[in-house]
Amino acid sequence: ATPTALMVGTGRGAQLGVLLKGPEVLESTKRVDTIVLDKTGTVTTGEMSLQSMVVVADGPGEERALRSAAAVESGSEHPIGRAIVAAAGRRYAGPTPQVTDFRAIEGSGVGGAVDGLRVVVEKPSSDVALPESLSAAVAEAQSSGATAVIVSFDDRPVAVLVVGDQVKDTSAAAITELRRMGLTPILLTGDNTGAAEHVARSVGIERVVAEVTPAQKLATIEELQAQGHSVAMAGDGINDAAALAQADLGIAMGTGTDVAIQAGDLTVVSGDLWAVVDAIRLARRTLATIK
Ligand code: ADP
Ligand code: MG
Repeated sequence: ATPTALMVGTGRGAQLGVLLKGPEVLESTKRVDTIVLDKTGTVTTGEMSLQSMVVVADGPGEERALRSAAAVESGSEHPIGRAIVAAAGRRYAGPTPQVTDFRAIEGSGVGGAVDGLRVVVEKPSSDVALPESLSAAVAEAQSSGATAVIVSFDDRPVAVLVVGDQVKDTSAAAITELRRMGLTPILLTGDNTGAAEHVARSVGIERVVAEVTPAQKLATIEELQAQGHSVAMAGDGINDAAALAQADLGIAMGTGTDVAIQAGDLTVVSGDLWAVVDAIRLARRTLATIK
């Protein structure tokens, strides 16, 4: 491989908003036949907003539930956390309650102590039975493609917060193009199956792997590789970092977290899937010149 061609490719990449870790990155795309796409923040905008909330009748009420949830989420970088913090800030004036013992529950949610109570905001779990009013809200949210999280006080579920975002304008067309280039797209997400399938349908992806932990995201890439595939993975979150590092070509969204950018082989500045198309085309073209 001539270093010159790779350097030219690197320069052309920069013009397209595709930043390569090193020129050799272009070589790893040669055989890529599968493109694994994270959902939130990659296929969708990741700009989530609070759509609705439901509280239990004999609980703390909306204001206290939302403000406590926001207090705990203020320590989170997740789009769900940002949506909850923003909604509480819009609705209620005054200082955010103090949080101690903050902890992030990887791929699941956050927790902390607020006003002497253990407040947890996390995805619904089959291990925790919900009162009817809350389970109905979760089911309704998920069937419409939204994401529901549970707020609990001292292990007691007291509210459901429903958040959602939109598919990026460019995602469906870019995925059609990736497919035309011979790549099989797979949607990979920690989010619930209902929301994942809703998004997959709207952008023309047939294969969905949902409700996975960050470690299972990594394992999904390894499995595809063990089956003989050469895998590109595009993602933006802390939860994608291990999978991005394992992929034959790790593509970080420039709009995402630093951890994802460090783990990727290349970064698409715009965070747009068209730039992913450009990156793979560029690599193929550069390598064609070399041969
Ligand atoms: P994704 O692959 O969609 O980016 P994650 O692995 O980050 O998903 O999270 C998986 C699920 O865990 C989310 O869909 C959400 O239900 C829950 N979750 C993650 N982080 C948070 C948080 N900060 N607050 C509430 N729920 C969260
Ligand atoms: Mg993401």
